[in-house]
Amino acid sequence: MSLVIVGSMAFDTIETPFERRERIVGGSGTYASIAASFFTAPKVVSVVGKDFPEAVIAWMKKRNIDLTGLEIMEGKTFFWEGRYGDDPNQRTTLKTEVNVFMDFRPRLNETYRNAEIVLLGNIDPDLQEEILDQVRHPKLVAMDTIALWIESKREAMLRTLKRVNIFFANDEEIRLITKENNLVRAVRLLQELGPGIVVAKKGEHGALVFNKDRIFGVLAHPCENVVDPTGAGDSFAGGFLGYIDGLKTMKDPDIRRASVYGSVMASFVIEDFGMERLKNLSDEDIEKRYAVFKDLVSF
Ligand code: AMP
Repeated sequence: MSLVIVGSMAFDTIETPFERRERIVGGSGTYASIAASFFTAPKVVSVVGKDFPEAVIAWMKKRNIDLTGLEIMEGKTFFWEGRYGDDPNQRTTLKTEVNVFMDFRPRLNETYRNAEIVLLGNIDPDLQEEILDQVRHPKLVAMDTIALWIESKREAMLRTLKRVNIFFANDEEIRLITKENNLVRAVRLLQELGPGIVVAKKGEHGALVFNKDRIFGVLAHPCENVVDPTGAGDSFAGGFLGYIDGLKTMKDPDIRRASVYGSVMASFVIEDFGMERLKNLSDEDIEKRYAVFKDLVSF
């Protein structure tokens, strides 16, 4: 199959109760595509400014990530600043500067237009829609978003949601969309709005994967030292879809395994700041942790 990932490539300033890191490389598209690259060769649609490090682009290419859909524009790369409290599930956005994303009007090339799987990572829903319009016959469309877009661009977000098969969201986002507090009822409402599968992410507690008639629970790896939770959600989605892209089917057991691989990728990302932990990660590390996940729920 072939996987196109749309998302931001960014500079992030991150503050945790223990440390602050200025302008490290982040972005929903960066995290998702690097996580996916452990399973397949994803294609990225994004934009950066001339200030984005060439070494990171070279590293991504070396990881078999197709960057023909990456535009390098005059101007500054997207910037995001966030702060985590003592509870790593709680974060506050302090600053968002869209910069080059302001004028980004991507035109997908032929290979991108023929993609079978599309991940609409967290970016402006107008842009998500514009890109999805260009993909001819996607077999599987997945989407991620954040409270900012649900609140500021609800109509565009709902329009895109209607065309989506898998939706990744946390409890807060699900409640914001549906205005329903009970998670199960909220997910049922969400499924009526489009996506047959809803992955309800629960930070350090893992995720619940809702199908039409089944629910699968996946744990998060018990991590003793959460250094930087940024990118966990994007890496989950990237790992999940990267794994699915390598298969020919998407039956219930495939979705369950994909969810575990998603959780495995998220568990590595949070062990260090930014992309650091992914730099020296091996396939063997991934399989070892996958086995740990299996052992956690075997009885
Ligand atoms: P996650 O922790 O998985 O939710 O993703 C965090 C990443 O999303 C960071 O690296 C940010 O650069 C990126 N991000 C935050 N806000 C936005 C936004 N409004 N649009 C696009 N990307 C964003």
